[in-house]
Amino acid sequence: MGKKLFRGGVHPHDEKERTASLPVVDAGLPERLFLPVSQHIGAPAKPIVTKGDKVLGGQVVAEAAGFVSVPIHASTSGTVRSVAPYAHPLGAEQLAIEIEVDGEDTFVEAEGPMEPIADPFNHDPNEIKTRILAAGIVGMGGATFPTHVKLSPPPEIGIDTIILNGVECEPFLTADHRLMLDRPDDIINGLKVILAIFGLDSGFIGIEKNKPDPIALMQDKAASLGGVEVKPLEVRYPQGAEKQLIHAISGRDVPSAALPMAVGTVVQNVATAVAIWEAVTQGKPLTSRICTVTGDGVKEPKNLLIRTGTPIGYLIEQCGGLTDDIAKVIMGGPMMGLSQYTLDVPSTKGTSGLLCLPASQVRTEPQKSCISCGRCVSSCPMGLSPTTIYNFIDADRVAEADEWDTLDCIECASCSYVCPAGIPLVQYIRYAKGRVLARRRQLGT
Ligand code: SF4
Ligand code: SF4
Repeated sequence: MGKKLFRGGVHPHDEKERTASLPVVDAGLPERLFLPVSQHIGAPAKPIVTKGDKVLGGQVVAEAAGFVSVPIHASTSGTVRSVAPYAHPLGAEQLAIEIEVDGEDTFVEAEGPMEPIADPFNHDPNEIKTRILAAGIVGMGGATFPTHVKLSPPPEIGIDTIILNGVECEPFLTADHRLMLDRPDDIINGLKVILAIFGLDSGFIGIEKNKPDPIALMQDKAASLGGVEVKPLEVRYPQGAEKQLIHAISGRDVPSAALPMAVGTVVQNVATAVAIWEAVTQGKPLTSRICTVTGDGVKEPKNLLIRTGTPIGYLIEQCGGLTDDIAKVIMGGPMMGLSQYTLDVPSTKGTSGLLCLPASQVRTEPQKSCISCGRCVSSCPMGLSPTTIYNFIDADRVAEADEWDTLDCIECASCSYVCPAGIPLVQYIRYAKGRVLARRRQLGT
């Protein structure tokens, strides 16, 4: 296995010093939770509760609606107050289940499809995957792709490499950093469950070198538990993107428009590995996670243990509230996160961070004309020409944008970060991807 640096990328200051050394604290329970039925890539889950129903924590409140879908569980006990459209982190309102929290925090017994498995390393792989689906587990690095799907490649595809992603290259965020310090055994055991599914003996954990404490701890645990190699990786954004991580660890290049399975590889986030371990051995569905609330626009940055469905305004209150000069709250980090228009928006299974930025750190100058400097091209880790795609989509030339491999864009925002003209290239390219997909659907290609 080689160790290679991907092409392109950028070096933003990692800004992790605010929270990297802070232990995780429990955010507690808000008065109301709002559980969107769409917290994952794929079909939104289908609600199975109605107004007035009493629910317990861990109870399924919305069922998976197809293979590429997962169920949603109540993240504490209470009473359903509505099943209606509500603010969603992606922008437009989406269906959500509102729960008035009773404060008892009573959870259902783990039984039926969630009954704990005593020996998960020697168990039927299909039953393990069924358990992972029943627990509603999705990629917790932010991609939120249903995990059981990722663990079910077509039978003709051989998987020989499993990589856990502990890179956390997004600036400001330290949720995975703290998880690796707090739960190293559970991460490795979760990896071993994944290895057992594929009949493999060993796997990898990739961590950027700017996290020496989790690297040392994970290497120590890996040495005692065996079967795992921890790979310290060069610090360069977006080292944690799947294709870049696979290249760095194995030297393999995932072809254009292909998935990691095309090169025999499955990548999972370290938090997803812990969720798998808890689901399989404790019957615990995915109802909580670590979230970093940070930036100079929040008074007391923290790493919080949060319940899914918690309004982000409540989480910010647990961190002393926003500063007077707040200008922007982003769900996620500064590169790939999404600005939020209301603090009523609930956290989801993919909420790894909330970044609060004061006015002095938010760009306000208008975008200028492209000066053809080529920096966006040399920064693109996917070998794309962002300026060309931008020019085509700005001129409504969707077919040409498609020819320039727009769909290969991983939306890392490296191009926007380096552009001296302040052109929000990633936003144009995200829009271009939507247009290209719509055109392909129209043409049936
Ligand atoms: S074009 Fe896409 S992949 Fe390339 S730098 Fe821009 S956002 Fe990243
Ligand atoms: S970085 Fe900005 S100014 Fe330079 S070529 Fe790309 S779009 Fe044009």
